[in-house]
Amino acid sequence: MGRNASLDPDDWDALRAQGHRMLDDMVDYLQTLRERPAWTPIPQEVRDRHHTPLPTGPMDLAEAHRLFLDDVAAYPGANLHPGFMGWVQGGGTPVGMLAEMLAGGLNANLGGRNHMPIAIEAEVAGWARQMFGFPETAGGLFVTGASMANFIGVLVARNQALTPAVRRTGLAADGRRLTAYASTGAHSCVTRAMEMAGLGSDALRLIGVDADRRIDLGALAAAIAADRATGFTPFLLVGSAGTVDVGAIDDLAALADLADTEGLWLHVDGAFGAMGMLAPAIAPRLKGLERADSIALDFHKWAQVPYDAGFVMVRDGAAQRATFATAAAYLQRETRGLAAGGWWPCDDGPDLSRGFRALKTWFTFKVLGADAIGAMIEHTCALARDLEAKVRASNQLALLAPAQLNIVCFRYQPEDKDADVDALTHAIVARMHENGVVAPSLTRIDGQAAIRAAIFNHRTETRDIEALVREAISLGDELSGARA
Ligand SMILES: *Cc1c(COP(=O)(O)O)cnc(C)c1O
Repeated sequence: MGRNASLDPDDWDALRAQGHRMLDDMVDYLQTLRERPAWTPIPQEVRDRHHTPLPTGPMDLAEAHRLFLDDVAAYPGANLHPGFMGWVQGGGTPVGMLAEMLAGGLNANLGGRNHMPIAIEAEVAGWARQMFGFPETAGGLFVTGASMANFIGVLVARNQALTPAVRRTGLAADGRRLTAYASTGAHSCVTRAMEMAGLGSDALRLIGVDADRRIDLGALAAAIAADRATGFTPFLLVGSAGTVDVGAIDDLAALADLADTEGLWLHVDGAFGAMGMLAPAIAPRLKGLERADSIALDFHKWAQVPYDAGFVMVRDGAAQRATFATAAAYLQRETRGLAAGGWWPCDDGPDLSRGFRALKTWFTFKVLGADAIGAMIEHTCALARDLEAKVRASNQLALLAPAQLNIVCFRYQPEDKDADVDALTHAIVARMHENGVVAPSLTRIDGQAAIRAAIFNHRTETRDIEALVREAISLGDELSGARA
């Protein structure tokens, strides 16, 4: 056993050598992604190896790493792979991975206090303010993901509507019944945010969409008027900048106008779409985003920063602080020393202890540059348009949702008019996953099961789009019995 209670190694040279091997293994892994299947079913014996009691004694680092390679890295969730086009997930980058290692080494706690990691988070927040045209006084905070960022947006809006006194009195003390509005295409985390904020999901009015699946502005105005007439208090509009199903962008400028005239808070869920600001062809379609009161976004989706790197921006930074800041004695601010520091991020959200998510984002933008990230974003949209064209050109495939951004929904259309196409679509996608070449997901469009190709991976190429079309047709033929 060690000579003292410290958990540092006795043999630093051995640690260094093993650490270098681990780094080399992971670089090899990233360099050869395409040689492995996108997804591999997990053998039962591998799962069985991981029901173990609490390890009370030590294991050699090399042995633990071997377990990692054999049992964990061999069965990933596919989002690194060029053939992954399933869900709205980023692919990560080698630069981001290295930054994560450095952040782990520093083990910084970004709740507050006087250290340089906080200044790096502030620096990245400044980049986000610049990206979205927000003022210097806007708040910007890393969080786990857009689910949390949307929740924070709802909480700040709620506290503005009810005044920060609601923190003391609770919701019940205020008799008003607050209502919020989003389209039926809004992400389910917006509903959850309403539940968690104590407002209830019934208070979220889900408004229908137009032909482009954007919120129907006429129906929205009518719903607000009807609620006012029946004693509700509208307080919040939630716009979508890129819906999760089809990538629709609400008319954000019109929502900003409506929010102005109705006196409502405009929160925009830009989980992935907000990063479109980096792509010159997409940015104009986000017009109005710069007028939002708050924005939820993820650096870990289209911008490919490793998980997790969600972010929330609030135009009125003071309103954000008024929602969360406390005056506990152990969080006392000093003017000098380690307990000083101007900005304590714990004032701006629910977390006290916080990791250094900003560092991998900082490295990603510093090393790759925002222009390259924007070009990659545009490329994923070009691939989606290519897929859409291929689906349109095939008489065996039916387009269910065109490429508004980087998401296309379609399905195989069997000749037999009585066939259960929904069941067939599910079977095709399951077989695609098992084949491990491409990994799209399933969704429903207008009540019909659809193959959903969400092209977020910066490694995806034209050949992957071709493979998707090829597999959709050949599996469709095989599973529908159309193959001669
Ligand atoms: C992914 C996504 C979310 C949820 O974000 P997480 O980072 O997974 O918490 C919310 N809204 C949209 C539109 C999304 O694509």
